[in-house]
Amino acid sequence: IPGLMQTEPLSTTAILRHAARNHAGREIVSRTVEGDIVRYGYGELERRCERLAKALLAQGVGPGDRVASLAWNTHRHLEMFFAVPGLGAVLHTVNPRLFEEQIRYILDHAGAKVLLFEPSFADLVDRLAPQLPQLSTFIRLTDEAYHKPGAVGALCYETLMALEAPGFSWPRVDENAGAVLCYTSGTTGDPKGVLYSHRSIVLHAMAGGLSGAFGLSAHDVIMPCSSMYHATAWGLPYMAPVNGCKLVLPGDRMDPASLHSLIAAEGVTLSGGVPTIWTLYLNHLAEHDLKPGALQRLVIGGSAVPQVMAETFKQKYGVGVLQIWGMTETSPLGVVSTPSPALDDLTEDERDQVIWTRQGRMQFGIELKVVGDAGDELPRDGTSSGRLMVRGPWVLRRYFRGQNDVVDQDGWFDTGDIATIDAAGFMRITDRTKDVIKSGGEWISSIDLENVAVGCPGVRIAAVVGAPHPKWEERPILIIETHAGREITRDEVLEFLKPRIAKWWTPDDVIFAAVPLTATGKIDKKILRDTYRDHLMK
Ligand code: ADP
Repeated sequence: IPGLMQTEPLSTTAILRHAARNHAGREIVSRTVEGDIVRYGYGELERRCERLAKALLAQGVGPGDRVASLAWNTHRHLEMFFAVPGLGAVLHTVNPRLFEEQIRYILDHAGAKVLLFEPSFADLVDRLAPQLPQLSTFIRLTDEAYHKPGAVGALCYETLMALEAPGFSWPRVDENAGAVLCYTSGTTGDPKGVLYSHRSIVLHAMAGGLSGAFGLSAHDVIMPCSSMYHATAWGLPYMAPVNGCKLVLPGDRMDPASLHSLIAAEGVTLSGGVPTIWTLYLNHLAEHDLKPGALQRLVIGGSAVPQVMAETFKQKYGVGVLQIWGMTETSPLGVVSTPSPALDDLTEDERDQVIWTRQGRMQFGIELKVVGDAGDELPRDGTSSGRLMVRGPWVLRRYFRGQNDVVDQDGWFDTGDIATIDAAGFMRITDRTKDVIKSGGEWISSIDLENVAVGCPGVRIAAVVGAPHPKWEERPILIIETHAGREITRDEVLEFLKPRIAKWWTPDDVIFAAVPLTATGKIDKKILRDTYRDHLMK
């Protein structure tokens, strides 16, 4: 028999309405590309979203249409996060760090009619526009004073907004309708589109605030330093209004000095981003003898968090590091590494050790399991490692325009990661399937090796890949990028590793070179593997 409760759809508009009614004055602070700081409350956000929705309607945007963004972490991008899905249209956030051909590919694949872009991308847009006939409207995210129409004859965002009065009756949108479309970075093959629904966004935003995840409260001041174009900056732009948090948007300036000025001036309590950003930030603090203001916790993920980073943040600055694991396909929140009563018997040091070396623990909404080659579920003993499978209401079922579902008959999605799960529900990634190093029939975890190597003084980034080897099939080689001005030798690195790793894990070579990063700030192992393919074959 049917339940007798209300069926009001879960929607991004409901999040906006909640924040505007109940946290109207709580601030959003945004650094524009031009450098100005804009500041307003959730009440004003709602009014601006209403005006943007009307402006988009006037441009012919209707339900199901794709509206694309090439934009940084700014208030105007945030307005699109609510106005576009609020109309029943789909916001397609484009990652500007992809190769130009990939950007063309995904804009074409997504089929957007309208593109809103920051002035920094004007040249790119002028070059791409002739190749994208279905894109008919271009809007530059700026105001009259800075506006230039460019070759595409772009309209000015603030001018369009000024034509509309606040007040809008948002349509009732099906909670399973598509809301935000985000493409993976396509390190293997073409980028693939993941289409989040209103329902998945709302459930994800609610779950992210829970104590087992980011533990948000209305007192928090959140600054997302992962990009809003990449898996919605981990959902933080939706989690902040759900919880009434102040939201600080750093624009296009993710350099440590710019981040620090906002952290200090705005009282940021929680921030998040990939490890590389925080490596730079730690250096900056040390170099200039600064303290990170009111910062209490950092959620770091996207690639494994170096333990030395978590240690330094805690011991030197009293900032807690929470590792998170997830992927575009999981919205992206999978697990967060937060303490649980299962660790109560440990000393503080032992507990930190667990928290920092695990990607996270299970929380409600996401199910994980590891399976062996035959698909059989492996025991949760912390040592049996296998393919990590994930399932839940904010995990994808099928890629955008895909012909088939990409989950098995029970709904499990294969993440492409190799992991263990322990009895307390903590998951640890040992590698990505395609990065695993197979040496003499045994596996070497590139992530574990990198994590140790990055602790060696002077090392800024450590990357480990398997290079084909005449005798052992593959052997690890270590590529090191040092901190600017630091010289270290191969012997120093090997000496450092010696007491910390199994002997047969010792890299066959240590190479000092710049480490290439992907469009999402991860070590680009594909390039490294290609570069060093013959390195050990001579
Ligand atoms: P892509 O870079 O391929 O677009 P995502 O940005 O969605 O994909 O990245 C997802 C992948 O990043 C995961 O499958 C995992 O391999 C890796 N990853 C994310 N968080 C962590 C973490 N905390 N530790 C190790 N690997 C991680």
